[in-house]
Amino acid sequence: MMKKVQLEGRLNLLNGKVLALLFFEPSTRTCCSFHAAALRLGAGVIPVDVMSSSTKKGESLQDTLRTLACFCNGIVMRHPEKGVFDRMIPYMNETNVSLISGGDGAGEHPTQALLDIFTIMQELGSADNITVTMCGDLRYGRTVHSLSYVLSLFTNVTINYVAPEELQMPQHLADQIAKESSTTQHFYSALSDEILASTDVLYLTRLQRERFCGTENVDEIISSYVITAETLKPLKSTGIVMHPLPRVQELDESVDSHRSCVYFKQMEYGMYMRMALLYAVLG
Ligand code: ASP
Repeated sequence: MMKKVQLEGRLNLLNGKVLALLFFEPSTRTCCSFHAAALRLGAGVIPVDVMSSSTKKGESLQDTLRTLACFCNGIVMRHPEKGVFDRMIPYMNETNVSLISGGDGAGEHPTQALLDIFTIMQELGSADNITVTMCGDLRYGRTVHSLSYVLSLFTNVTINYVAPEELQMPQHLADQIAKESSTTQHFYSALSDEILASTDVLYLTRLQRERFCGTENVDEIISSYVITAETLKPLKSTGIVMHPLPRVQELDESVDSHRSCVYFKQMEYGMYMRMALLYAVLG
């Protein structure tokens, strides 16, 4: 239903509701797709400019949230502090307002995981019985943390984690998946033809430069995983390439016209998924 509205304009399912967008880290897709989703459902939007807000006067995060809660029905927040949403729960419980995560530092990005699963279902028909190869910065890339967990809720999923040692998937997350599901997990330091030949979803992530502490040799790390159309030759014939974007040098533009490219559609699916989410939370 949400996908249909794109063609028809607007659904008045959230008339009279107001959503605040509070982004303390850069964002194009998450911020704009939530904004567009709210507008397409008839809600009003307050895009908070944190640079000119009272945060700059030293206001605590909980006070900023309390303030917005007086004016809005829901708040989408992105913040650099990992785990910040857990810390804010007691304050949000004082209000009737929903706080939605738009990403917390190198922690999680739950709505991206939902749109990624929606993309997989749209493109492959199901997220059961698939092999997903995650490649890139799996340590600081929050999208893969959330996606691997959501994938583990499906049946007969294999996840290959392909990354240099310094950027591998945090062990505690893989351990949690192993404990709670029957998902098969493999760790590799480099992509190979064999891995690609069995891959249904190749999920790439960029190097999260902003989260490095400066001691790592970033350039050397980057050169170890650049995907071009040539690299994809052994990919399973029905395989798809996803990326949460933005891309930097890890995903060459030659892949844009490859049959497997779905990362532009993935952005559009993100708006439909966020419309459904806003309706579920605020409707
Ligand atoms: N846009 C995604 C995020 O906010 C991916 C990225 O920035 O690399 O996590």
